Amino acid sequence: MTDCLFCKIVAGKIPANEVYRDDDVVAFRDISPQAPKHLLIIPTEHVATLNDFDQAHQMVLGKMLLTAQKLAKAEGFADSGYRTVINCNQDGGQTVYHTHMHVLGGRAMKWPPG
Ligand code: 5GP
Ligand code: ZN
Repeated sequence: MTDCLFCKIVAGKIPANEVYRDDDVVAFRDISPQAPKHLLIIPTEHVATLNDFDQAHQMVLGKMLLTAQKLAKAEGFADSGYRTVINCNQDGGQTVYHTHMHVLGGRAMKWPPG
């Protein structure tokens, strides 16, 4: 999708601090980190919100979680712990309409979230 910020990152048209890429997912550092470690993992395919996934996306949804686990291990915060979050639509706090999984670590997270 040409006017989507995260599609532009997938296409390499705008720079991002990438930490992982394959045919299915791209992971990069959030531009406005909310924790010492704050990664975003996105599908390479444009899917606007979590509501728009279907059965055909089962593999990529699983891969997003396994990528979170792999990157947390690689960056050394898997054992101390981390949080994965997908915000969906307005009440979920979604601001970029290309689905992304936040991976937050490096400090203790509060619960419940605001
Ligand atoms: P949301 O609120 O939609 O769940 O999260 C969007 C996230 O994307 C925010 O944490 C925001 O800081 C991040 N973000 C927005 N624009 C950019 C950008 O151009 N580059 C990167 N790396 N992150 C961005
Ligand atoms: Zn997109």
